[in-house]
Amino acid sequence: MDELIHADAVEKHAHLPNLSSMPYLGQADTFFERHLLSDALVEPATAYQRQRFEAMARSVRDILAERWIRTQRTYDQANPKRVYYMSMEFLIGRSMSNNVMNLVLDRFIESTSREANLDWLDLLEQEPDAGLGNGGLGRLAACFLDSMASMELPAMGYGLRYEYGMFRQAIEDGWQHEQPDNWLRRQDPWEVSRRGQFVEVKLGCSFEMHQGALTIIANKPSTLIGVPYDRPIVGFGGKTINSLRLWSAAAPDYFDFQEFSSGDFVGALVGSIAAQTLTRVLYPDDSTEMGQSLRFAQEYFLVACSLADLLRRFRRDNDDWNELPNKVAIQMNDTHPALTVPELMRILLDDVHLGWDQAWDLTQRTLAYTNHTLLPEALEKWPLHYFRQMLPRQLEIIYEINRRFLDDVRNRHPGDDKLVERVSLIEEGHEDKVRMAHVAIVGSHSTNGVAAIHSELLRTTTVRDFAELYPERFNNKTNGVTPRRWVRLANPELSDVISEAIGNNWVADFDQIGRLKPLADDAAFREAFLGAKRHAKVRFASWLKESSGQIVDPDSIFDCHIKRIHEYKRQLLNALRVIILYSRLRANPGMNMAPRTFFFAGKAAPAYKIAKLIIKFINNLALTIEKDPLVAGRIKVVFLPDYCVSLAERLIPAADVSNQISTAGFEASGTSNMKFMMNGALTLGTRDGATIEMAEEAGEENFFLFGLTAQEVSDGRGWYNPYWHYENDAETRHALDLIAQNYFSANEPGAFSALHDVLLKNGDRYMHLADIVSYLNADEALSTLYGDRGAWARKAILNVAGSGKFSSDRAISQYAEEVWNMQPCPVL
Ligand SMILES: *Cc1c(COP(=O)(O)O)cnc(C)c1O
Repeated sequence: MDELIHADAVEKHAHLPNLSSMPYLGQADTFFERHLLSDALVEPATAYQRQRFEAMARSVRDILAERWIRTQRTYDQANPKRVYYMSMEFLIGRSMSNNVMNLVLDRFIESTSREANLDWLDLLEQEPDAGLGNGGLGRLAACFLDSMASMELPAMGYGLRYEYGMFRQAIEDGWQHEQPDNWLRRQDPWEVSRRGQFVEVKLGCSFEMHQGALTIIANKPSTLIGVPYDRPIVGFGGKTINSLRLWSAAAPDYFDFQEFSSGDFVGALVGSIAAQTLTRVLYPDDSTEMGQSLRFAQEYFLVACSLADLLRRFRRDNDDWNELPNKVAIQMNDTHPALTVPELMRILLDDVHLGWDQAWDLTQRTLAYTNHTLLPEALEKWPLHYFRQMLPRQLEIIYEINRRFLDDVRNRHPGDDKLVERVSLIEEGHEDKVRMAHVAIVGSHSTNGVAAIHSELLRTTTVRDFAELYPERFNNKTNGVTPRRWVRLANPELSDVISEAIGNNWVADFDQIGRLKPLADDAAFREAFLGAKRHAKVRFASWLKESSGQIVDPDSIFDCHIKRIHEYKRQLLNALRVIILYSRLRANPGMNMAPRTFFFAGKAAPAYKIAKLIIKFINNLALTIEKDPLVAGRIKVVFLPDYCVSLAERLIPAADVSNQISTAGFEASGTSNMKFMMNGALTLGTRDGATIEMAEEAGEENFFLFGLTAQEVSDGRGWYNPYWHYENDAETRHALDLIAQNYFSANEPGAFSALHDVLLKNGDRYMHLADIVSYLNADEALSTLYGDRGAWARKAILNVAGSGKFSSDRAISQYAEEVWNMQPCPVL
């Protein structure tokens, strides 16, 4: 068994470590049986699939345990600089197959499955997605953890252990319904509770359950307990295994029963139930500021637990506080963890008793901030009274930071009161608020955007004043995604074709993917490449049929638009395109048009009415087209419910076309655009976010770019008028008229009038109508190309070959070098 695994691993991945030091592999299948017997207490032959999944996960954990501990020991001994990635979201997805891949245990799985008579693929379906995030921001954090471990960086992720992750989306009668995601209902086999390493968090308020909801009782100080749960983050090759540490809230009496003996027994019990509610649920909104006190408490809880934990580790290994920035880097993923600034200051001032200047210097040099959005409605601002109630001391500190900062601004720009008002950490108004982005920029040494255009707009528009005050703090780190999960694991067909051609080092060294470039002109390689795509499409079609009964034609163009539903992402623009193509086909059934399947998927924030109506609209559009015999077999619309990491992993390998059509200047980066590119889809896209850089890398001639530029969008703000397009373009007018005439809502008259209003009467903020004609032109060029299989394959191969830059390994190596100033710490 040992021999088998290692011969294979070493041959396939010459650069990988020799795993023969792993003691357990020889008896792996007995392991599996033993877990069934002793954990689940069942006869292996009669076990349920879920029990088998758990036993297998435990067996894999047994195998990685020794490396996991060794990684920690290595860090403890070497005392390297460590990076802590702080994020309110980690959209991890499933872990089993990812861990098996990164540990190079394929052969072990094969033989165990054979000996235990397991259906491995079915077993994988037993694992729920760990959906601890909304979308791109949370998935980025997960890809970054994979890259940090694969690149042997001493890193740790810090987040919250939500008992309920992102809601499950059900579609009923076309409408989105939200169902709770009780992903921990059955014990998660990967997590390890570290109750011994609990931390105390002191708050200026208490919590109480009030009519089923958690409410905050001001001026009644309380203590919460943070209990860490660790999940292994396996680096590729299995050498380094880092941890993702998620905090769960508990009440002190959970640990200390004294309160019960002394005080109010019932009161203490109710209080404990309330406190544990704090980490119960993820807020399911990714684009507007929620402005709820519980979310504020969650953010502080993450920051307070993580800082206490990492400073305890720092103190264990270092006795000079001046070493902090040399030993610790903290990356704040958006402003959600920006309370790190006043909390670290509080600790250094009040607990460590440093002077202000020294504390401030250490804080700034330790912290760095990543901005993820230019949308003003998504920039966090917390009402002062939340601070007064919960964090009075941190508020004092923010005032003092602000006083000193504004003094400095006044010195440098005497008399410019407007500037002072604009940059102040406090926004004065009807209700005073703390501007968290300002706190994060002032309190750190690095602020980065997530794509070149985004970083540029950040500097020149959103926080221009700060970029002028502190130009040296601003930088760009274009996002990336891990090629392990998104190509090797999700797309075995394509992976084999690539490895056949250039060897398999691309998995760990994704720059090598560029070696495919000359093969774009190789007829045999094109053939193999198209074969892999066709195979992935068939695989997706049969999954869809099996899981939902829906039938799609693998010979049609798979045209995909999957991401959160938001007006700026313009699912409506895509829907208008479909209406126009549909209308053309109806008007001229003999026309030559390659059969197409339009896939949509995405969740809408539960409170975002228009987004939910867009989902209903797409579903009605699908039904209208489905029922029309004139277009049968020519076009089809499918709305896939419950978009999540696992669904993305299924669909993206099968995609021919990737729609990345946000209004230019609104999508910070995008990351699904990169996943599609790596999987050989062609992009129909606007010049926005990282799509601009993707086209640069692959060559614009291999992209289908269209629409207004960010500059044109911003210039057009003053005079743009959707009615002009309505009146001057017959197809646009016809599409809008169909909506107004209830063509897609015959039984629900007026159902979509709000969408019609968004596009016309209310001014079309996201300029859908300005881009329709150029979208259709790009679409036509693309579908014509589809008819020439060789030419299509050539462009698609050049896209894959040009995607090297978009590995999260590249992004992480830039962070490590330019922001964190840290080196790998290999585990021997
Ligand atoms: C990659 C990914 C996203 C981000 O998609 P964008 O199109 O970049 O917004 C969101 N959700 C899931 C599940 C993903 O895998």
